[in-house]
Amino acid sequence: MDKRILRELELLPVARLYGLEAPANGAALAEVAIPEPPAAPPPMFSRHEADAEPRQRESEPAVATPPAGVETMDWAALREAVSACRRCPLCEKRKQAVLGVGALSAPWLFVGEGPGADEDEKGEPFVGQAGKLLDGMLAAAKLARGREVYIANVVKCRPPGNRVPAPEEAAACAAWLDRQIELIAPRLIVALGKTAAIRLTGQESSLASLRGKVHAYRGVPVVVTYHPAYLLRNLPDKAKAWEDLLFAGRTLAAAGA
Ligand code: URA
Repeated sequence: MDKRILRELELLPVARLYGLEAPANGAALAEVAIPEPPAAPPPMFSRHEADAEPRQRESEPAVATPPAGVETMDWAALREAVSACRRCPLCEKRKQAVLGVGALSAPWLFVGEGPGADEDEKGEPFVGQAGKLLDGMLAAAKLARGREVYIANVVKCRPPGNRVPAPEEAAACAAWLDRQIELIAPRLIVALGKTAAIRLTGQESSLASLRGKVHAYRGVPVVVTYHPAYLLRNLPDKAKAWEDLLFAGRTLAAAGA
């Protein structure tokens, strides 16, 4: 991606920070490694410490009755219903529900875990430090939120203290994400981190074992990778995340062939 486009997208500083700018000679971005950022970020992403660890399922998966009429909601109705949602206790402490952002018929859907403090404040997913890394990686892959990407989360309200959402909270929110998937009809879903991977593959395995495979959710191919917040604290795994993004691109290309 050239500097002008990155500048227009206000991604140049991020691309520079993470060394994600395309080389001047136009070498394939697929060969650009993701180098270390200049300094480790402060330890504010404890909920993603366990991305690499298997989680044990102790009981049957939580399920919740879908909200009435969700299957016929358009974007406006969905946005309104989500902003008024009181289906789980997460609504009590939120500033606002965060539905998602991006192109409404994007080929790429990225799904994270849930809003953090910055997202709760601004009403948009991935606007904090993890979001900057995500945007940088998207730019390196010649993608951008709002263009060919939509970004959503498993839960739409911030879990207090940035804890991992409880299975019952993810289940209460499930119909909203499902309706987003129906409306967007993406060609590929990228699950960012453990919570999204479990939600979209139905498997409580380690992230390592879920990566590098094409799963499916409601007929849409799903590729699993690390959560950007986890990557900020586990720098060596950034190269693996880049591999996952390339794998996702190949999967999408193959799906369209
Ligand atoms: N982490 C997430 O999983 N989602 C966001 O929107 C922000 C941080």
